[in-house]
Amino acid sequence: MIIASNFKTNYTRGAAKAFIKEIQSFISQTNSEQQVRIFAPFTALDHFDEVSNLKVGAQNFYPVQSGSYTGEIGFEQLEEFGIDTVLIGHSERRHILKESQNFIATKYDFAKAREVEIIYCIGEPAEIRVQGIDAVMSYLWEQFEGIEINYDKLIIAYEPVWAIGTGLTASLEDIEEVLTRLREKLCTPLLYGGSVKVDNIDAILHVKACDGVLVGTASWNEKAFCEMIRIA
Ligand code: 13P
Repeated sequence: MIIASNFKTNYTRGAAKAFIKEIQSFISQTNSEQQVRIFAPFTALDHFDEVSNLKVGAQNFYPVQSGSYTGEIGFEQLEEFGIDTVLIGHSERRHILKESQNFIATKYDFAKAREVEIIYCIGEPAEIRVQGIDAVMSYLWEQFEGIEINYDKLIIAYEPVWAIGTGLTASLEDIEEVLTRLREKLCTPLLYGGSVKVDNIDAILHVKACDGVLVGTASWNEKAFCEMIRIA
């Protein structure tokens, strides 16, 4: 199981590092075997002690090693901290930051060439969901345009846009239907994200074809995140 936390634009450097240390000690003490990922803000990236099944990742990067891209973070700056897992395609970057599929595919190619783990996010907005599963699936497949899916370090996160940060978790049937359809063409691990919390994580992790979760809001609390790792 993969249990990932996306801090988004939360936590100061000190608070994020304290959080990561706490999760590390929880994993060590409980001998948890879950694969845990924490996508911290850039300001909190650092060299962390090795805990083999916990990786700290980057929420974003600009697809260059280094260069003149004012305000952006290149790969050299991630490599400095040994970062080898990244998020690509998150709906907040697609919709709020206006990243095009073309740009997302460029980022994907860049990260893949550097052989880092990629959690690639896809998800449909509410107006597509109401059109039914076939419309949802064609929308999702379009989000794979330009993406070379034969990559052994690829993890897919299905995050319906209408379920992110809203408290509206997709139903177990909806999650299962989408993940099962994705599974027909993809042999990568499949995660679900969107209002996952302590109360529903167990049921979601039991959904057929679900290999883990990507959690936002409910993971921004050390105790709750530890509890989710324990439940997994
Ligand atoms: P929430 O858990 O707050 O819905 O966020 C999900 C998400 O966007 C994780 O990447």
